[in-house]
Amino acid sequence: MKCSLLSRPMTCAHGWISSAVLPGDTVVDATAGNGHDTVFLARLAGPAGHVHAFDVQEEAIRSTRERMEEAGLLTPNVHLHLSSHDRLAELVSGPVKAIVFNLGYLPGGDKKTVTRTDSTLAALEQATALIAPNGLLSVMCYPGHEGGAAEAEAVEAFLSRLPHHSWRTGKYQLLNTGSPAPFQVCAFRLD
Ligand code: SAM
Repeated sequence: MKCSLLSRPMTCAHGWISSAVLPGDTVVDATAGNGHDTVFLARLAGPAGHVHAFDVQEEAIRSTRERMEEAGLLTPNVHLHLSSHDRLAELVSGPVKAIVFNLGYLPGGDKKTVTRTDSTLAALEQATALIAPNGLLSVMCYPGHEGGAAEAEAVEAFLSRLPHHSWRTGKYQLLNTGSPAPFQVCAFRLD
């Protein structure tokens, strides 16, 4: 879907990511879930690109594998890690053109298995070291569930502290889509 006037945050994020990723790039879905973002990233990176997806739940990795297979995108360049994203630096070689986090719980799955502030921040720290020049780090935050507000606040604070000469960071939120409304934070690496 195209990012137009006041589109939903994920739609805008997808538009920005589409502008950054070129065929052959390395991309990371840090929270694979049902695999929608993995498929989206894999299409942009193309068959010559490298795709990594992380999730701590077997169900999510299975669902992502099935979705990738159905889309004809499951190649030897696709790496599905049943692992926390705080092992990003260990399992992925940079530079990476886009790293996408969609925080919270697996839709339709176990709502108790949620992303957590400490591992999210550790993964973000590693992500900033892996991102290529002209690459994008995108985080969808959900302050509505238990622990979500503290995590969202910590993520926003982390991206706000990135040095402005190397990064352009921003936040996008629709104000009438829930209370508290989910929001997107992005960091674009300038050099
Ligand atoms: N991007 C997904 C999609 O397109 O369907 C949705 C992601 S869902 C909102 C969040 C996912 O993060 C859940 O599947 C959950 O298991 C996963 N998760 C929770 N903690 C994690 C961690 N430490 N590392 C990686 N994934 C984690």
